[in-house]
Amino acid sequence: YYGLIAREQTTRFTGGSDCLLYMLQYNEYNNQKLGDQMQLKDVGEFNFIRQIQDNTIYDSSTVVYGIGDDCAVYSAAPDMDQLISTDTMVEGVHFSFHYMKPYDVGHRLMTANLSDIAAMGGNPKQIVLSIAAPQHIDTEILDEIYRGIKAQCQRYKLNILGGDTVRTEGPMVWTVTIIGEVPKGTAVMRSGAQVGDVVGVTNYVGYAATGLGALSYNLEGYDMTKIGHQRPDPQIELGEQLRQLGVHSMNDISDGLGSELNEIASASNVSILVEESAIPLHEETYTLAKHLQTKPVDYALYGGEDFQLVFTAPKSLVPKLENLAGITLIGEVVTGPPKVEMVTQDRTIKTIEAKGYNHFHES
Ligand code: ADP
Ligand code: MG
Repeated sequence: YYGLIAREQTTRFTGGSDCLLYMLQYNEYNNQKLGDQMQLKDVGEFNFIRQIQDNTIYDSSTVVYGIGDDCAVYSAAPDMDQLISTDTMVEGVHFSFHYMKPYDVGHRLMTANLSDIAAMGGNPKQIVLSIAAPQHIDTEILDEIYRGIKAQCQRYKLNILGGDTVRTEGPMVWTVTIIGEVPKGTAVMRSGAQVGDVVGVTNYVGYAATGLGALSYNLEGYDMTKIGHQRPDPQIELGEQLRQLGVHSMNDISDGLGSELNEIASASNVSILVEESAIPLHEETYTLAKHLQTKPVDYALYGGEDFQLVFTAPKSLVPKLENLAGITLIGEVVTGPPKVEMVTQDRTIKTIEAKGYNHFHES
């Protein structure tokens, strides 16, 4: 397996990639593991499942039966709606051990799933997880990915109720299906934005993209945003608080603020107007933008994987929103066809296209 990676590296490095040193750093980490590793084919799928079965239940109150039968059995509270969502990460497309530690792959996979639950204002409860892995994979890599997954499960009191383990000749594929809940009828949709609403975001946007930029240019410092890129966290608590306050619409920011705002505008059939100077950017974003002679706001609009939330709420909620830590109001919902516009620093109006990060069409 590492032989394969080493060959890929040679071609990549001769391409003069900016990521060179960053990749080397992680390959040193990987190479330390060379030696007495066990492969999936030595352990066997049956034993592998037995091993991962430990520490899978973090809230037993809803679990009738976990891993070990044809299906798991869990009970749903009668006054709750069930939320279900799934996310897949493919090696070479969504992650690579060239620049990600296996632990961080597990962490990220969970964050992507948890963030979808957060965006509905939900509380996460259960996951099932499916793996397709090559037979010669070092089981320590699988264990590390599981460690990242389980750490997030423990933190959010999520149970791993089952999964599937299959062999593949191709790249590794990890799929998590997550189940969450909200009180009946209260899930926050993208389609609920109303003219007159204010638009808000949680924490900083463009944060993960800043860290990625600093890492790929191998820059010193940028410690906060580098971690933001490597181990982003979902906004479960704020999502629930925003739902309880009565926000009208919500979306998580996985493909850039521009793309997510356009999704709300389309689903709700409204225009959204945001103010560039109001968008909360971390100071490292300003520093990096200056260093690379790029526009700070572009990290927020087009950078991926922040896993923050964007929402619209009636104006009457503004005093309560202002009391909530980590919320910034950035604009309003206005009449007009579905579109997103931004009032720039020099007071001109610019249309924001939905060109976030897209796996099939990178723009
Ligand atoms: P079946 O043939 O009934 O699908 P499996 O042998 O695939 O059963 O799985 C046995 C048990 O282990 C099931 O409860 C399944 O949910 C669980 N399981 C299999 N793979 C994983 C995995 N990667 N993570 C968690 N649970 C798993
Ligand atoms: Mg199975």
